[in-house]
Amino acid sequence: MHPDKSLLKTHNLSVGYATGQPLFSALNLSLAKGELVCFMGPNGVGKSTLLKTLAGLQPALGGTVTIDSAVEQPEKKLSVVLTDRITATNMTVSELIAYGRYPYLDWSLKLTPDDKAAITDAVNRTRIHYLLDKQLSQISDGQLQLAMIARALVQQTPLLLLDEPTAHLDLNNRVEIMNLLRELAHETGKGILVATHELDLALQTADLIWLAGRNNNLLTGIPEDLVLNGAFDDIFQFKGFDLKTGKVFHKPWRNMAVTVRGNGHEARWTKNALERNGFIISDSRADILIEVMLANQQVTWVFGGNSFNSLDKLIWQLRQLNP
Ligand code: ADP
Ligand code: MG
Repeated sequence: MHPDKSLLKTHNLSVGYATGQPLFSALNLSLAKGELVCFMGPNGVGKSTLLKTLAGLQPALGGTVTIDSAVEQPEKKLSVVLTDRITATNMTVSELIAYGRYPYLDWSLKLTPDDKAAITDAVNRTRIHYLLDKQLSQISDGQLQLAMIARALVQQTPLLLLDEPTAHLDLNNRVEIMNLLRELAHETGKGILVATHELDLALQTADLIWLAGRNNNLLTGIPEDLVLNGAFDDIFQFKGFDLKTGKVFHKPWRNMAVTVRGNGHEARWTKNALERNGFIISDSRADILIEVMLANQQVTWVFGGNSFNSLDKLIWQLRQLNP
């Protein structure tokens, strides 16, 4: 997309294991400076395998990976965060991060002021000062993931590859990690590739998506284009979920149409609750009219001359009309 800013390129890359068919073939990909790319696809499609091949941890079946970098040492070109759990759990977070500087240390293995500055910067960016003296066995999965990212950052590489960095994390931690990666790409100019099967997060944060498609190929595009052109539907084969509206399908079973009058989040969540409860939402004036009013941050629903202060109460009342 931005060939001038490309940090990594593949030429007719073919990826997989010698024992089977290639998982991907004839890949011509490019990862640009300052870009967060989410590499998406269902489980088992070959995301981890491609990531390891790009990182040089696994041989390609064919084709080439070229990394645009003046430095020779692979550890200074590219850092990787894989899914393997660390086993030396009595190591502290601080030690873990310092290990990331290993490629820069001389025979004495002493940290220089440059090393210390890199570590301080990584700790600041990941905001984990409070974890530095903790052992890895004493921190949560989300905290460990931040520490692993900090360890990758101290390598000060132009490229950062991460495999499923948000797996096993709760929503807050998942959002925190993805926002951090996005910030890093945009502020430091790194090219960041994240393999993930988590569609919702990728759609909201990625600058570009690589989507593992049919025929051992990859589609690329910005998230919204791939939503609107049906590429995600084609690959993920959603059942009972409409990606374009971001909603789960509900079969209306009450045979009652409701018009909701109101704006913003309040109206949207009102419709959501009604649909989930089997009502039909109709924009043209239906038999039932609900007005969503917002005053002083308080939401009120008005229906049939009565006011309700929660959707629960409103819906309970509506159900009396059609149990
Ligand atoms: P993803 O990360 O998208 O879930 P993987 O890259 O882990 O997928 O695996 C892709 C495919 O390669 C899977 O079918 C998996 O069984 C197979 N695979 C993984 N590791 C090996 C291996 N060491 N040898 C042979 N096949 C493997
Ligand atoms: Mg994987």
